[in-house]
Parts: sequence; structure tokens; C-alpha cells
Amino acid sequence: ATPMSIGVGVGRGAQLGVLVRSAEALERLERVDVVVLDKTGTLTQGRPSAELVATECAFDADDVLRWAAAAERGSEHPLARAVEAAAVERGLTAPDSTEFRAPAGRGVSALVEGRRVLVGSPAFLAESGVERAGAFERDVAALRARGGTAVLVAVDGDPAGLLAVTDLVRESAPAAVAALRAEGLDVVMLTGDARATAVAVAHSLGIERVEAEVRPEDKAALVAELRAQGRVVAMVGDGVNDAPALAAADVGIAMGSGTDVAVEGAGIVLLHSDLRALVRARALSRATMRNIR
Ligand code: ADP
Ligand code: MG
Repeated sequence: ATPMSIGVGVGRGAQLGVLVRSAEALERLERVDVVVLDKTGTLTQGRPSAELVATECAFDADDVLRWAAAAERGSEHPLARAVEAAAVERGLTAPDSTEFRAPAGRGVSALVEGRRVLVGSPAFLAESGVERAGAFERDVAALRARGGTAVLVAVDGDPAGLLAVTDLVRESAPAAVAALRAEGLDVVMLTGDARATAVAVAHSLGIERVEAEVRPEDKAALVAELRAQGRVVAMVGDGVNDAPALAAADVGIAMGSGTDVAVEGAGIVLLHSDLRALVRARALSRATMRNIR
């Protein structure tokens, strides 16, 4: 590959909404045969909104929401902002919290008004020793079937409330997935979210392969596994927890709206977070490599 042709490709990329940070990444893109896409913030807008939809009768709904918001204050997860916003919307002020913990990015735990408050997925609560973490089971199932994310609140070891979190699919996602598949690529959704939620969203996008409930540290392992099978892998993500997977891929691609860690670990950045730019980037890769050969 001559540096000049790659340079032309890099310059042309900006007009296509593609920032090429690594010439090698652009070179390899045409040979990619599987695209792995993170769900939250990549296929979806990453601007979740939360609503308290059920409360155990021993608890006051406003208390549950105030405590949940207080516990989430120390978290950087987009879900945390959504929970805080839900409290503000109801005119509630979250009290101070102490002893904040966010074990493995699956939920949070804090001491609020003398109570131990946990907020996270039902799986996180179960692992944290909450008995009856299966409370609200029916509501959780219905919510997930619609593509929503269930966030439970537990207070002093008892389930207290259920928050429904919804995050809209990006407008560019359906057309981008369809175009990638039309080019013969395999498309895989990768997410830390619950399987039922992930499958519902994947279904609406025409994605057949779903890897759900994947812990952040296992995202990179999944990419490595595909490569070990001889696949040429592009990984698209936005979050801090996607950075190792982006680095592990043949081509790491970050959303322009993504966190700095993701952008810095990527060879290619989709400037306007428009997933169709990924299809344009592949065309650019082909054209650039054709010029070189
Ligand atoms: P994704 O891989 O789709 O971007 P994450 O790995 O960031 O998702 O999160 C996985 C799951 O962990 C979320 O769907 C949520 O259930 C739970 N979770 C993580 N952080 C929080 C938090 N601060 N509050 C509540 N739940 C959380
Ligand atoms: Mg994400």
C-alpha cells in the first residue's frame, strides 16, 4: 500500500462521515466478513429514559425512586442518568449517599438514608444476595419482549421497585444492517443486556445472531474467538467497556458520540454516529485498495 493512496482515502473519508485514524484499518475493512455491533449506544441512541413501573406495597414509590437516583449518582453509566432524570421528572430530590460501589458495571450499590440500596439487572441483584430477585417477573418479561431493559431496585435485601428503561433504535440502524447483510457479511449483536431484551431489538433490525449477557471483560474474548475461527472481524462500539473489544478486532470502529476511550482505541470513527457510514467506509476501503493494486 502506498502512503499516498491511503492518504487520498483518508481525505475522502471525512466527506463520507468517516474518520480514518489508522490506514491499516481502512486497508483491512474490505476483507471483513463479520461485523459485531454493540447494542446500547451503537445500535440504539444511548439516550435511555427510565420510568418506575411497579413498586412492592411495603414501599412508597417516591422513596424508591429517590433512593434509586441517590444510589446511581456515582455511576457513569447512561442508565444512571436515566434513573436520576426519572426522579427529577417527578419533582423528587435525591438525598446524599455513601459507600458507593459499582461492581463490574452491572449495577450499583450505596447506603442511602441508612438503607442499603441496590439498583441493577435482576441477575445483578440475585448475585448480590437479594432473595426474591425474581419479583416482578411478569412485568420484567413483558418489558423485555418489547425490547426494554429491566432495572430493579432492592432496599435492605428486599426487592422494592421496577424501572422500565427504553432506548430507541438509531434511525440509521435498520438500513445499515440490511446493507451489510446484502454485501454478504454476517452481523452479530453483542451486549451486556438481558437475552430477551437483546433478541427483541435484534429481531426488529433483522439481526439473527445475538450474544447477550456478555460481561465487559468477555466482549474482547468473543471477538478473539471469531478471529481464531478465521473470520475477519469489525467491531463497532461506543462505550468504555467496548474499548478492549475494539482493540481485539481486525478493524475497531467507534461511534463519533462514543466515549474518548472508545474513539482512541478505534481505527475508524463514524463521525455523525450514522451507521450507514460504515457501508460507505467499506466502499472507500475497496476503492482505495483498488487504486493501490
Ligand atoms: P451494553 O453492552 O449493551 O452497552 P452494559 O454492559 O453497559 O450494556 O450494561 C449491561 C447491563 O448492566 C445493563 O443492561 C444493566 O442491566 C446493568 N447495569 C450496568 N450499569 C448499571 C447502572 N449504573 N444502573 C443500573 N443497571 C446497570
Ligand atoms: Mg454501548
